[in-house]
Amino acid sequence: MLDDFMVVEYLFADLVLLDGDVITVDSGERIAEAVAVKDGKIIGVGSSEEIKRLIGATTKVIALAGRAVLPGLTDAHVHMIQGGTRDLDPDKLDCRDFYYPEIRSIADVVAKIRAHSNRIPQGEWIEVIGSPMQDYRFKERRFPTRRDLDEAAPEHPAFMSFGAHITVVNSLGLRRARITGETPDPVAGIIVKDDAGEPTGMLREKAQNLVTNLTSPGGEHVIRDAIERGVTIPSIHSYGFEDLKRGIRSAVQRCLERGVTTVHDIVTSPEELRAYQEVLLEGDLKMRILLLVRAYESKIRADSLLNVGLGTGFGNDWLKIGGIKLSIDGGMTGCNAAFYEPYCHEPWNYGVVRIPQETLDILVERFHRAGDRLCVHAIGDKAFDMILDAYEKTLKKYPRMDHRHRIEHGPSNYLCTPERLRRMKELGIFPVPNINFLYYFGDPLMVTLGEERMMDAFPFKMMMNAGIRFTSGTDAPGYMPIDVLRDIWSCVARKTWSGDTISPEQAVTVMDAIKIFTIDAAYCGFEEAIKGSIEVGKLADLVVLRENPLKIDAERIKDIEVDYTIVNGEIMYQKGS
Ligand SMILES: [Zn+2]
Repeated sequence: MLDDFMVVEYLFADLVLLDGDVITVDSGERIAEAVAVKDGKIIGVGSSEEIKRLIGATTKVIALAGRAVLPGLTDAHVHMIQGGTRDLDPDKLDCRDFYYPEIRSIADVVAKIRAHSNRIPQGEWIEVIGSPMQDYRFKERRFPTRRDLDEAAPEHPAFMSFGAHITVVNSLGLRRARITGETPDPVAGIIVKDDAGEPTGMLREKAQNLVTNLTSPGGEHVIRDAIERGVTIPSIHSYGFEDLKRGIRSAVQRCLERGVTTVHDIVTSPEELRAYQEVLLEGDLKMRILLLVRAYESKIRADSLLNVGLGTGFGNDWLKIGGIKLSIDGGMTGCNAAFYEPYCHEPWNYGVVRIPQETLDILVERFHRAGDRLCVHAIGDKAFDMILDAYEKTLKKYPRMDHRHRIEHGPSNYLCTPERLRRMKELGIFPVPNINFLYYFGDPLMVTLGEERMMDAFPFKMMMNAGIRFTSGTDAPGYMPIDVLRDIWSCVARKTWSGDTISPEQAVTVMDAIKIFTIDAAYCGFEEAIKGSIEVGKLADLVVLRENPLKIDAERIKDIEVDYTIVNGEIMYQKGS
């Protein structure tokens, strides 16, 4: 039998937060003053007076002094292990304008590369990372050419990548890769040439691997072998195990600094899965991860996943399988998402379908029948309809309640016709749009897709009115930081990088925006019973904000400082410490 002292200690909280605005995001949208936490869970929400009674000798107390508390924030579509690992790569020079305010022109890039080249022995490769669609934001309004990079690094072979689809190489780099005016395009790639037939330095899609593979051992052999066999040149660059683990830890830290306590991360190799497992087993995973396992054009094969039988939901509250990821088409940054009408600036280009309908139908059916939840990337309208068709066929044959199959990007970004809205609703599809694309890529999207296709873009209000639940993902951190507060601001302000506004009538209230990244995101992870609101019994994932987003000018929400990020009742991040 417990003695009295033990009973009393048992009732006391480990941590309490007092005297603030606790935005609970419960069904009544209640604002409380205080919250108490014990053993990783929330044990009390109410007035400071009530919660004070749970303070014992060992309870830690955070005096909020009017600050706000939100449920931990979620980004439901990231490439975190990949981006986080690359960000730590000492061989890469970072010239991404979304990260560096001093990079605003090709001249800025040239200067940064030149300074860097002084530290690299002559003849060694210089690898530079840029941002997608940076040509729209450079003062020169174009991509650099081989000549610009020659000016920056005449004695080094050098290349600069702008997202996943475009790489520009300097003259020495082209020579190393033996690319001349006579070199034919490799399979699924383009060597861009000028009017005189000379390579401009720009390589698109798989042609990039002609150069990027040369920095890895054995790269030249892989290139020659693929060309001889007439197949696509595979990318062979990969990171070691310890690098991946360091990448996870560093990216997790960045998330915690912005109050993000859960991400849904897309993994494409067994090494990435194992790196996550090891960080977890070492007791070092400080936030929660749902893995979206890519099972096509991936090092993980659909068959092996299905054979193992470990599907969606397997794992624990820190690390679990959140679904199976497939990608139907390309992306906007490479102008290869599959549309019915061509790109406005490239009237010959309709984009690329990477999974034929027949294969897609089979994959969707197999994973659905195995009990998995699918997360399918569809960026162009042709791809949207392909996935809606595939879901419809499978769900007709094998109805399943509450499948929560997702469409990544999809009609929830643009071209959300009433018909597509109706189909998503009827099929019970959970859309995952990208509100951050409005901010970062809204300006070039207006040019490449055109105003007509961008009408009612990011139709959040429309989807809410139709009763469609959704959350948002970012594709970060490779292109831009993971930062949900910025995304909450975007839902309300709807401003592009240049300051233009896109479909302001689709703006939602700050409270609705908060829900998208908390309770609705939890629902997206099948986790609404344990996460997403500040209620007794739920996991104690909380973020303390310097200011209350419901009270300040909406324009400032993106700049709100995070003072504490608490995961499972533990302070995982504290500003200034
Ligand atoms: Zn993605």
